[in-house]
Amino acid sequence: MDLFEHQAKELFAEYGIPVPTGKVAHTPAEARAIAEEFAAAGVSRVVVKAQVKTGGRGKAGGVKLADSPADAEEKATQILGMDIKGHTVHKVLVEEASAIAQEYYFSFLLDRANRTSLSICSVEGGMDIEEVAATTPDRVAMVPIDAQTGVDRAKAREIAEQGHLPAEALDGAAELVERLWAVFTDEDATLVEVNPLILTADGQVKALDGKVTLDGNAEFRQPDHAALEDAASADPLEAAAKAKDLNYVKLDGTVGIIGNGAGLVMSTLDVVAYAGEQFGGQRPANFLDIGGGASAEVMANGLEIVLSDPSVKSVFVNVFGGITACDAVANGIVSAYKLLADRGETVDRPLVVRLDGNNAELGRQILSDAALPGVERVDTMDDAAKRAAELAVGA
Ligand code: GDP
Ligand code: MN
Repeated sequence: MDLFEHQAKELFAEYGIPVPTGKVAHTPAEARAIAEEFAAAGVSRVVVKAQVKTGGRGKAGGVKLADSPADAEEKATQILGMDIKGHTVHKVLVEEASAIAQEYYFSFLLDRANRTSLSICSVEGGMDIEEVAATTPDRVAMVPIDAQTGVDRAKAREIAEQGHLPAEALDGAAELVERLWAVFTDEDATLVEVNPLILTADGQVKALDGKVTLDGNAEFRQPDHAALEDAASADPLEAAAKAKDLNYVKLDGTVGIIGNGAGLVMSTLDVVAYAGEQFGGQRPANFLDIGGGASAEVMANGLEIVLSDPSVKSVFVNVFGGITACDAVANGIVSAYKLLADRGETVDRPLVVRLDGNNAELGRQILSDAALPGVERVDTMDDAAKRAAELAVGA
């Protein structure tokens, strides 16, 4: 999960990392009110910053200085609603403006290729670090971090020196970098990036921007992270699926997909997309892996989510029986229909079921005997995909 800049800075502040003070506004009037609070405290200059989860906001016109509350309102009017690389701006951060003497670059990230954490530091900050690395690689330090020893004050200073930060910035940078390492490890982040890290006119080192990616795999031990999720921009179907512990990803086609095992579901998407070419370009409507268990409840929840997508015209249930055998899955489908009926819902779109693997014959028999309305059994994956695509056109 990526954080907004304001969330990253709030997190930094909890770890004692110096950041400019600021508040979030959703309307120009709110932006003005925040600027008025700053003005009352003797800060007349603020910066209004688009809060979108993408970089390059400055270049796109999403970061603007304002000299008065009225100006802040005006700048917020310009920025709110702006589209930056496909992200609509719904909120801005209104911050005390910083007097920048120099801009540097700093980040910790997970270097998967080298199976280590990596720090990147450069005296050339504020711009695209990829570009700096390409044009002046000698100005960019890339220092791997040993997970056993981590980053203490001395190591932090060493990295800053290797990034060619000037002597007057070293103390401040070392302290900031040491704390940033604590953010990176304690919060289970895969990236913490500060670009620019600044030296102010009065000699302080501050994080002027913040980009943080938290590792979703660590959710179980980071209960506080749930509150950082951006519910407003999450897909409503994906949010509903998540609430039911389902592995669901919304796609833009018409054929609903339910399968057991991520690998099988991935190949089902391919097979359906391929078969769909014969039927006017029908494509999968979602990814849904119901996992090993395939109980009636999981199957019912899965069907409910898939069918609540109005673009779904047919559903392909693709199951390869393993430890959970096909007869258990077939019984799961039959019970799921009853469960849905009890919830007052009917399956109103055709379902193509392919069962193969452990106890396939028995499973197929159970489905045939149940004679559920709208359910068709097709016994090979290719034929089942074709039939599901065909039904999606007909519906
Ligand atoms: P990004 O373009 O999305 O990376 O947004 P940043 O937060 O990094 O801001 C872009 C640039 O705006 C920075 O590199 C600074 O040069 C400038 N900027 C941001 N905040 C301030 C500020 O408080 N004062 C001044 N003078 N410039 C700022
Ligand atoms: Mn930046």
